[in-house]
Amino acid sequence: MILYPKKYIDKVTDITIEFLNENNILGIVLDVDNTLIDINENMLNGLEEWVSYMKQNNIKLCILSNSNKIEKVKKIAKILDIPYFYFGMKPLKFGFIKVKKLLNENNENIAVVGDQIFTDVVGANRSKMFSILVKPIAQKDIWVTVLKRPIENWIIKKYLNNTKE
Ligand SMILES: [Mg+2]
Repeated sequence: MILYPKKYIDKVTDITIEFLNENNILGIVLDVDNTLIDINENMLNGLEEWVSYMKQNNIKLCILSNSNKIEKVKKIAKILDIPYFYFGMKPLKFGFIKVKKLLNENNENIAVVGDQIFTDVVGANRSKMFSILVKPIAQKDIWVTVLKRPIENWIIKKYLNNTKE
């Protein structure tokens, strides 16, 4: 199902090396808004520690944001010291092709982490990358996202019912 993530977790820092190894993930593509930072640009707790833990384990990281605010994306990329692309136009394949080239791994060895089904999850699934959906950090989204949230919540509910054992 194109709308369903491969994995649904609370936050990006919940991702462990063990989980990545089990799923043959060598590179991670990170969304920015509501995945790494909230609406006031506050960083997720423990994010810097998690990034160094990933780097120590040779996991390649890269940012792919749909935001057109280069300064915002650049700032977080600089703090975390990872490469970035902004105005990614997810779910279009365009950005994912650039990311794949940069990470230099096969699509199935790349995980895409984000808080939105229609951009992050659909884009990852279309590119045959491993989609990981996280809960949005901030409650107050920009209005486009606000419109999509009830639909997303409905899909997540269906997804959770389907994956229940
Ligand atoms: Mg986002």
